[in-house]
Amino acid sequence: MPQPPYADLIRNVPDFPLPGVQFKDITTLLQDGPAFYALIDDLAQPYLAARIDVVVGVESRGFLFAAPVAYKLGAGLVLIRKPGKLPAPTVQVEYSLEYGTNTLQMHQDAIRPGARVLIVDDVLATGGTVGAAAALVRQLGGEIVALAFPIELTFLQGRASVAPYPVFSLVQY
Ligand code: AMP
Repeated sequence: MPQPPYADLIRNVPDFPLPGVQFKDITTLLQDGPAFYALIDDLAQPYLAARIDVVVGVESRGFLFAAPVAYKLGAGLVLIRKPGKLPAPTVQVEYSLEYGTNTLQMHQDAIRPGARVLIVDDVLATGGTVGAAAALVRQLGGEIVALAFPIELTFLQGRASVAPYPVFSLVQY
């Protein structure tokens, strides 16, 4: 599949933040107006008629894409954050990383049962992060329509790890 024109604006930074990681830096895309505009249009496009109630964004780079997609869809925006950031009562999920664990929180009144949810993050890598986000949404009774990403690292097979949720991505490596 051909990559969209803005794919060339994603900067690859080798060995960041650790040796061996090819970091996909989206700041070089964000700073280009027409590219950012086109990317948000493309990310929202499959869901224009999907009756999405809320878009869930994952801290912190996910917020950069979730908010404009929510605006475009006329949907609400829900934040998933690292521990201690959200002021009201939360639900939380712990998930494992290569070394150690991570925790994510969401306000316990953020999603009403049966709400149609689109989850957005910047990069789908192993799927651990978005899998945890999906668990939070399900805990509150939300219906996950899809998981959408500007970037997917296909060789890490995150798509398989989050099955059966549908995954949509714009630029694949
Ligand atoms: P994962 O839980 O493995 O799917 O990792 C996803 C999260 O880690 C995303 O929120 C990304 O922000 C970040 N991430 C993982 N790998 C990369 C990468 N190669 N370049 C940029 N961000 C990455």
